[in-house]
Amino acid sequence: MPTPGRMVVISGPSGSGKSTICRRLLEDPRVVFSVSATTRKKRDGEVDGRDYHFLSREEFKRRVERGEFIEHAEVFGNMYGTLRAPMQSALAEGKLYLLEIDVQGALQLKALGEPGLYVFVAPPDFEELRRRLVKRNTETPEMLERRLHKAEDEYRERVKYDHIVVNGDLDTAVKEIRAIMGLEPHGAAPSGARPEPGSRSSSSRPKGG
Ligand code: ADP
Ligand code: 5GP
Repeated sequence: MPTPGRMVVISGPSGSGKSTICRRLLEDPRVVFSVSATTRKKRDGEVDGRDYHFLSREEFKRRVERGEFIEHAEVFGNMYGTLRAPMQSALAEGKLYLLEIDVQGALQLKALGEPGLYVFVAPPDFEELRRRLVKRNTETPEMLERRLHKAEDEYRERVKYDHIVVNGDLDTAVKEIRAIMGLEPHGAAPSGARPEPGSRSSSSRPKGG
């Protein structure tokens, strides 16, 4: 029987670098991405079933009622949710199952006592967060301000996670998370080891908040 897998929750404010980090983590064949469902519109370049399952609001609600989501949340006016069934299959196959979800969703899973590694990706500071969001060029000025405002609230929740990783230098942050996941041959967390509750990979806080 394969060793049971593990859920890895990558969460943090919008623009902190979650997607960028997840793309890098997914280069490892032991890591599988949790494709969330969402009611938001598909962006250019996104593929249904690969990036998200794009659903109508009615369909999303039906699935909530059927209990198909292990967590779901409304983020900036759209619904997002993690599907239970694919997660159970991946964990049974011994995979590291990567969830890239917002802070509300991560805290729902924590409150449910869902076993896993909870990683908060923090920006180096709020000015850098603003610069990154401006550079990404995906938000209207109004949405950008909303995301920055929310980031400050979300940042306060970081203490509820098992690990806080500051995404200053991307390679360093990826390496740190790979070590937490037990993927680095000489990493801090050997494969299968559980971190001490409340242990921190890095405790430095963004200067802006
Ligand atoms: P999130 O998924 O958390 O919203 P993204 O991964 O989209 O964030 O990153 C936001 C922007 O910041 C993107 O343009 C990305 O290329 C850039 N970025 C991510 N990590 C770093 C980093 N370590 N250094 C500089 N820019 C980064
Ligand atoms: P985006 O629309 O930019 O792809 O994602 C917006 C936010 O929704 C991001 O913070 C992302 O992590 C979060 N998100 C994506 N999928 C899920 C999910 O299944 N559940 C929750 N709670 N948040 C999600």
